[in-house]
Amino acid sequence: MAPKKTKRVLVVGAGPGGLTAAMILGKRGYEVEVFEKQLEVGGRNARITLKDFHFDLGPTFLMLKEVLDRVFEEAGADSESLLRFKRLEPMYRLQFDDRQIEPTTDPEGMKQEIARVFPGRESTYERFIAREGARFSRLYPCLEQPYHTLRSMLSLRLFKALPHLALNKSLYDLLSGYFCDPKLSFTFTFQAKYLGMSPWECPGLFAIIPYIEHHFGIYHVFGGLNRISEKMAEIAAGHGVKVHLNTSVRSLLLDGRSVSGVVLDDGREVRGDEVIINADFAQAMCTIVPPGILRKYTPERLAKKRFSCSTFMLYLGVDKIYQMPHHSIVFARDYRKNVEEIFKGDSFSDDFSFYVHNPSITDESLAPAGQSAVYILVPSANLRGKIDWNRDGQDIRARVLEALEKRGGMPDLRRHIVAEKMITPQNWQNDYNVYAGATFNLAHNFRQMLYLRPRNQFEELDHCYLVGGGTHPGSGLPTIYQSGLIAANLITALN
Ligand SMILES: Cc1cc2nc3c(=O)[nH]c(=O)nc-3n(C[C@H](O)[C@H](O)[C@H](O)COP(=O)(O)OP(=O)(O)OC[C@H]3O[C@@H](n4cnc5c(N)ncnc54)[C@H](O)[C@@H]3O)c2cc1C
Repeated sequence: MAPKKTKRVLVVGAGPGGLTAAMILGKRGYEVEVFEKQLEVGGRNARITLKDFHFDLGPTFLMLKEVLDRVFEEAGADSESLLRFKRLEPMYRLQFDDRQIEPTTDPEGMKQEIARVFPGRESTYERFIAREGARFSRLYPCLEQPYHTLRSMLSLRLFKALPHLALNKSLYDLLSGYFCDPKLSFTFTFQAKYLGMSPWECPGLFAIIPYIEHHFGIYHVFGGLNRISEKMAEIAAGHGVKVHLNTSVRSLLLDGRSVSGVVLDDGREVRGDEVIINADFAQAMCTIVPPGILRKYTPERLAKKRFSCSTFMLYLGVDKIYQMPHHSIVFARDYRKNVEEIFKGDSFSDDFSFYVHNPSITDESLAPAGQSAVYILVPSANLRGKIDWNRDGQDIRARVLEALEKRGGMPDLRRHIVAEKMITPQNWQNDYNVYAGATFNLAHNFRQMLYLRPRNQFEELDHCYLVGGGTHPGSGLPTIYQSGLIAANLITALN
């Protein structure tokens, strides 16, 4: 991989995918410029500050830390010396209407925890770890390679992985086979929500996600996961990468079907040899690609694709610290009905599930002493649903706060809120450029995966590469980092 100072690479968006590619290509000697619409780096992984309270805008679970370590290494940096990590044990609390469980990565401890909460159901845990571990070791390598040609689908890796694809089973079908009890099955299938999918629709192969959690653990980063993006930008800058904040790309510059640069919002043209798009894939196709160019990802065809659900968010500065776990998920009484209502999208469920991030219990840097930065995420319909978020947002906020007081372990919450921000699915689209407010991008069904997902070497335009959650390998920080590494390798291989 001989460095080539002369080759210019332009990156649209400083989210995790764009920053990964930029820092690696910067290290390899490319001349890289990143254009970011917002005032700060990170995209959905940015930091929000309200008064003296600091929050992660999006990601709060760091999984497969080894992938982060690897992309830092590729950029000549050591994640352990630049960031402070804490592996969380137990990982989280899952609260049902009649019981709660706190999963741990210690196999013996997990068996005891299952026996405590679901007596007599603990014996199949070891089988789950052994079988899903085998699935992971066959499938994960398939996510590390690009699918830019049909030939790449014929790889030996993919051939060996075929029996592990669980083609005819949903995640719930597959894992309820081990655990029988519905609530114990939810303990291992709610992770479909990390992809913004229903456990009853999500392909069974994603059983690798609960396996990854239970085997490799989940991490907090002191200061918030947004620190990762900030460090990536610093590493990139150290390699001479220029990051232009508050600089929106209005359009790609095209020479036929070949991308030759970008046009900025102020009309300035910037030329480059290769362009990497990290902006939300579907949104970018509808906004920065001039009309009439695309065949496969036209606005009309995108309108027929399947997308993830959205999230209704509250970021609360609270003048006390609740003695609650770092992560808790509170399930609706009828979880399946709630999930079905999210994907039907007619209305906000009366009985809804929510996630509470309470990092101040672990990390004192996020709020003034004795106070806390609390983040609430409620999986919700995306903008294809019928909810009018502008009209109903405040009412939904009131219902969420009431639920936190009644079911979320924060009985006097409303009296202690001293700073607040709300993000609805409508805000995700309007303020954060997320297509249909679908926070986890294109859905991960078989028809939208691997060769059938937008490819890292974009099949529709020359000299154009795609990174981020809407592209291969998919949504979630480790796979997004992987997309940045794959794109950087594809560009490097051009030389
Ligand atoms: C609420 C929420 C919770 C999540 N939780 C987790 C989690 O716990 N763990 C996990 O692994 N993943 C999580 N994710 C998923 C995923 O990791 C993040 O969404 C991640 O930030 C997506 O990264 P990305 O590279 O796709 O780009 P994005 O973060 O979407 O960044 C794209 C960037 O492009 C910029 N941009 C867009 N258009 C333009 C333009 N025209 N010109 C210039 N710049 C432009 C945007 O401003 C943005 O900065 C979560 C996501 C959300 C929304």
